[in-house]
Amino acid sequence: MTNAESISTPRFQAGEFKSDLKPIWCPGCGDFGVVTAITRALAAVGRPPNEIAFVSGIGCSSRIPGYTKAYGFNTLHGRALPIAQGIKLASPELLVLVASGDGDGFSIGGGHVAHVIRRNIDLTYIVMDNQIYGLTKGQLSPTSQRGRKTVSSNYGSLEEPVNPLLYVLGYGASFVAQGSPADMAGLARIIEEGIRFPGFAFIHVDSPCVTFGQEEQQLKAQKSRLQSLESIGHNAADRALAMARAREIGTKCYTGILYREPQPPPTYGQGVAERQAALQKQAVPRQEILRRFLPEA
Ligand code: SF4
Ligand code: MG
Repeated sequence: MTNAESISTPRFQAGEFKSDLKPIWCPGCGDFGVVTAITRALAAVGRPPNEIAFVSGIGCSSRIPGYTKAYGFNTLHGRALPIAQGIKLASPELLVLVASGDGDGFSIGGGHVAHVIRRNIDLTYIVMDNQIYGLTKGQLSPTSQRGRKTVSSNYGSLEEPVNPLLYVLGYGASFVAQGSPADMAGLARIIEEGIRFPGFAFIHVDSPCVTFGQEEQQLKAQKSRLQSLESIGHNAADRALAMARAREIGTKCYTGILYREPQPPPTYGQGVAERQAALQKQAVPRQEILRRFLPEA
């Protein structure tokens, strides 16, 4: 069963996916908009909270499972993806979402991304990228710009930032999209499409940190960089074009679906199910095993 298929299809309001916990993010943090977009997307998909598992690592954005109504698992730093993969394989009927940040997703957990992509596990990976470690009070993250000064890098970063879009496109991800809480409706739409996609879906969210982020990264400044892919006639079936546009990260913020595989490959879960069915067909009845090994029995 894929994420798009429902066991039951009741209608929901976005508010029904919000938990009773009050977010403790700084006022104005971009993650408020992301959780709202996620709940709107879940309402549109129509799966009830008890059919959803929401997994995260550690960081400000990783608080999201606590603020949504679903099975939640706030795991270890960088380890959300392996745990989410295990959940999906053990319970393929669950709709599995993963929330992460730039540090969690592309530094300590970066090694897991390639493997979830090559296995094509049917889950939706939402990375809130604010180019900083917010929870630990503003250190350089893997997506911080070269020259960026922080409390722990007085002379500025000497490293090139990781480009999360190129990273996942390069490893062959079948669904890659980008959004911003500055465009809430658009963000909800791409998260919904990611959930409905039958396979691994990567959603990169430019989510500003109002406390430790730079001025040009804040929502107001970000709005001037937003460019809807739909409005420029982007061809989402062209991986090379998607990679070319991904290189513009930092100067332009394209919103929408950057790449969607026209013929999605089989998921790892489908392969496991087929293998299990084949093994069951070959299974030797218990009595026959006893007869072979204990002929006198
Ligand atoms: Fe949001 Fe930054 Fe505050 Fe964390 S530190 S809650 S990312 S504004
Ligand atoms: Mg961060």
